[in-house]
Amino acid sequence: MKTHAKVVIIGGGIVGVSTLYHLARAGVTDTLLVEKNELTSGSTWHAAGNIPTYANSWGGMRAGNYAWRLYKDLAEEVDYPITYRHTGAFWPAHTPERMEFFRHLTGISKGLGYDMAMVSPAEMDAMHPYFTSGDSIRGGIYDPYEGDVDPSQLTQALAKGARDLGAQIARFTTVTGITRTPSGEWDVATDKGNVRAEIVINAAGYFGRKVGEMVGQKLPVVTLEHQYLVTESLPELAANPENFPLVRDPDIMYYLRRERNGFLLGSYGHAGRPAWLDGMPDCFANQLYPDSVDDIAEVLDAALTHVPILGEAGVGRFVNGPIPYSPDGAPLCGPAFGLPNFYHACAFPVGVTHSAAAAKTLTEWITEGETEWDMSMWDPRRFGEIWATFDYTVARSSELYENQYAIPYPHRMWHAARPVQTTPLYERLKSKGAVFGQIAGWERAFWFETEAVRNDNVLSFHDECWEPAVAAECRAVRDHVGIMDHGGFTRFEVEGPGATEFLNRVFCGAMPAIGRVKLSYMLTPRGKIWSEATIARLDENRYLLCGPTLADKRDHDWMMRFMPESGVTLRRGSEFNAALLVMGPKSRALLQPLTDADLSVESASWMSVREITLAGVEMIALRVSYVGELGWELHLRDADLVTVYEAISAGGAEHGLVDFGSYALNAMRLEKAYHGWGSDFGIEYTMFDAGLDRFVSRKKADFIGREAFLAHAEQEKSYHFTGFKLLGAGADALPSSPICRDGETLGYVSSGGSGFRIAEGSGQRLALGYLSIPTTPGDVFEIEVLGEPVRAIVTATPFYDPENARLKG
Ligand SMILES: Cc1cc2nc3c(=O)[nH]c(=O)nc-3n(C[C@H](O)[C@H](O)[C@H](O)COP(=O)(O)OP(=O)(O)OC[C@H]3O[C@@H](n4cnc5c(N)ncnc54)[C@H](O)[C@@H]3O)c2cc1C
Repeated sequence: MKTHAKVVIIGGGIVGVSTLYHLARAGVTDTLLVEKNELTSGSTWHAAGNIPTYANSWGGMRAGNYAWRLYKDLAEEVDYPITYRHTGAFWPAHTPERMEFFRHLTGISKGLGYDMAMVSPAEMDAMHPYFTSGDSIRGGIYDPYEGDVDPSQLTQALAKGARDLGAQIARFTTVTGITRTPSGEWDVATDKGNVRAEIVINAAGYFGRKVGEMVGQKLPVVTLEHQYLVTESLPELAANPENFPLVRDPDIMYYLRRERNGFLLGSYGHAGRPAWLDGMPDCFANQLYPDSVDDIAEVLDAALTHVPILGEAGVGRFVNGPIPYSPDGAPLCGPAFGLPNFYHACAFPVGVTHSAAAAKTLTEWITEGETEWDMSMWDPRRFGEIWATFDYTVARSSELYENQYAIPYPHRMWHAARPVQTTPLYERLKSKGAVFGQIAGWERAFWFETEAVRNDNVLSFHDECWEPAVAAECRAVRDHVGIMDHGGFTRFEVEGPGATEFLNRVFCGAMPAIGRVKLSYMLTPRGKIWSEATIARLDENRYLLCGPTLADKRDHDWMMRFMPESGVTLRRGSEFNAALLVMGPKSRALLQPLTDADLSVESASWMSVREITLAGVEMIALRVSYVGELGWELHLRDADLVTVYEAISAGGAEHGLVDFGSYALNAMRLEKAYHGWGSDFGIEYTMFDAGLDRFVSRKKADFIGREAFLAHAEQEKSYHFTGFKLLGAGADALPSSPICRDGETLGYVSSGGSGFRIAEGSGQRLALGYLSIPTTPGDVFEIEVLGEPVRAIVTATPFYDPENARLKG
């Protein structure tokens, strides 16, 4: 075995081996994959091998499509035979809501240039010789790309391809420890000796948590049981060699496909069953859990209605194997927090499929330092170590398992493992009718019940019960003043004689003067948008940065990449760890009596920052507003939150003070067309695409991404960030919905919702999105909302207060 390698991959399942292959194809062949048993002996060997491209998001659909395209040609490419059957798949729908959701998915597919389509019950029956839709099925979606592959052969083929290019694999070799050398390399200890590596990838599957512990990280990974059965051969199938589509019925919760001359039937129709809660075994190679016959019996019964021939087949075998889950069901794939050159690539529940996109992404991180696709939904740093504990992971992933096929309504809230993190105002807000959601482990009031509007807990794509309450919150903020407890703000403190120079290098905008605030963006070397922060300059060499809640750890890592050896300190978090947003035209009148600081427009103008005492409490007051009104963000200590909230509330009645929540916050930011991280900007866009180039200082001689930015300035834009008003009433546009004209798809929605300040009643439907062509206000497009074309008029943004007069007031 090698004693030195540029890259060491721990784990010889499909994820590790595919990464080895992708790296080799990219020219990185000084690599060693270490596997403690035979290749594929974890989750991979027994996987059903289905390769769905169906997904609820752009990211998921692209990942599935990348996989099947790779697999269909792989055998020839590496000269290793594999069984890959391209069968297609259909998903029947038994309810109108499921049909609406499927129509939305066909829209996403259209936006990506793929061909998912709605199909009728008769079309499903015609595609499948043994399927009968009967009375309960209303229609469905057809995924023409789905197929199935033998996962062991697939892994061996990728291993051959990698070896042929020079990569090495050490089987039956266990990694027992990992330490960092003083020079920043990694010493990977194994039972066969040590390997020194520049870069390490944790691809240990459901053992990923154990490998994480070797570098001091407690990853949120739990192993659940997942089971399918394979029937005995049926004479009808033996006589019929034709392939037919896989059926995946999300309402009954099964998937079914041909397996040789029988059927393979998998089920999600039972409670999630976490395994090994008292500790993992050292070895579980090529093993399964005991059969769980009862779990599949009910689903099998329901499936018989549609595939009666199943009743004629005896059960050949059960396969009940370990499947890793994270708290949101997505993998942990990307840089490890705070550990340069260490990557996690584990917790894949659909890993035979998603390993391909994971390998592509990891290879790009390693060879190019940034990725082509925005994979932040898989970034391991989205979870916080304080809240995403093992117990949290067990509870939430079990809930997710049961809801694997539930319709992902835009406002679905998970219930398990709550609350985890609350602010001192939690009980008080609850008693005032707060309906909480959870963001980054924090309970945040999403909206407030009123006498007239009670939470009915009914999920829907339209007419949700909370809309009138949220409309009232927005209008009260517009006409009077509102207060919001914003737990879980991402904050960084940057200090030292080199602070300004450092921030000037990391951010593309110029730094604010002392006492001023600027919104600025971090670019990648390719000039794509990494993230944003509101930068408040408290002193010559002291800054407070506020950024997107879920980007906390990834943004910290990014800034640390450019940290000079001395002269600057960067702290994640702040002692001012709580925030109250006080927003609305009466906010000044409400706050002024509580402080000696002068809050007049002359002393506390828009985009200013002051350290003040209010209600007897020290705080940092930013005159900024994400809702587009006169207002303050008050950053204060957790311990002072109740005092300040009470003092503000005491004077609130005469100013019409209301509590408002996250739904109102989002509706108001949409009216201002402020870009939301993760939806309206990210690393797939340049500052020009996103319409944010005005935030770049062209005078600065140097900042990360400058050369690329200047080159983009000379090029045609790939995208045009555009605002739309949708005509009529109905469901809000969902992200990724296609934007079309004359039957041609020309873009997609990045954010949709209703604005309640610019229109009375049920508000004005709005959307922000990216188009491939330039437009002028008044141009007419169609946005497909749940499959229905809705006329959408290009509208100059902001939709609300375009002169920013209210903000500046
Ligand atoms: C019943 C069932 C059906 C499934 N069906 C599908 C499907 O149809 N489609 C799909 O896409 N996915 C499916 N999956 C999921 C799929 O099996 C997994 O997502 C995938 O196999 C994960 O691959 P991996 O490489 O991440 O992990 P694994 O295959 O578990 O590989 C991890 C490897 O790391 C090794 N390892 C661990 N610790 C160490 C160490 N310290 N030193 C050295 N080596 C170590 C292990 O031995 C193991 O071989 C299914 C899962 C189950 C249980």
